[in-house]
Amino acid sequence: MRYTTQFMLSAMAAAQFPAPTVPEIAFLGRSNVGKSSLLNALVGEKAAKVSSTPGRTRAINFFLLTDESGRPKMRFADLPGYGYAKISKSISAEWPKFIEPYLAERETLALCVCLVDVNVPPQPRDRQLLDWLRHVGRPFAVVATKVDRLSGNQRTRNLAALKKGFEFDDILTVSAKTGAGIKELWSIIEAHGVTRE
Ligand code: GDP
Repeated sequence: MRYTTQFMLSAMAAAQFPAPTVPEIAFLGRSNVGKSSLLNALVGEKAAKVSSTPGRTRAINFFLLTDESGRPKMRFADLPGYGYAKISKSISAEWPKFIEPYLAERETLALCVCLVDVNVPPQPRDRQLLDWLRHVGRPFAVVATKVDRLSGNQRTRNLAALKKGFEFDDILTVSAKTGAGIKELWSIIEAHGVTRE
C-alpha cells in the first residue's frame, strides 16, 4: 500500500502523546545507527529531517501514515537515540523518564523496530534493550543497518555475531543507501501495524 506521511507532534511527556487510536510502530537505536536515514528510506525525507531537528532529538516524534483515501492507518514513533553518555549505566538512566512507560504501557504500540549497525559488534546497550522488551512482552524486530558497507563474507560473519550476541536469530539486514531490505521491512511493519477490518 502507498501511504502519505505527515509529522504530527513531538512529545516530551506522556500527556503529550497523541490519543491511542491507530497502531504505532516505534523505531529505536543507538545514536548514529542510521535511524534517520532508514526513516527517510521508508517514508521520505521530511520525516527524517523533522526528527533530527535540535530539541526534537530528546522527544518522541510521531508521524501519521494515511492511505490513498486519507484514512489514518498507523503511526510511526521515532524515539530518541541512546548511547550518547559513555558513563551512564543503563539505557533508562540517559533516557527521558517518559520513554520507558511509553514502551511498556502504550496500548497502541504494535511493534518496536530495534536498529543495530551490522558493522559494529553486539553492544551491551542494545542487548539490554532487547532483554527489557522481552521482559515487558513487547513485540520487536531487529534490523541491522548499513549492510552495503560489507562484503558477503563479512556480512555473514557480522550477522552471526549479532545473532549470537543478542540470542535472536531473526535479524533483517537493510541499507538506506541501496534500498536493500526496505521492502521486507515494510512487510514486517504492515504485518504488525495495519488494523484488520
Ligand atoms: P541516526 O543518528 O541514527 O539518525 O543516524 P543517521 O541516519 O543520521 O546516520 C548516521 C551516519 O550513518 C550518517 O553518516 C549516514 O550517512 C550513515 N548511514 C546511515 N544509513 C546508512 C546506510 O544504509 N549505508 C551507509 N553506508 N551509511 C549509512
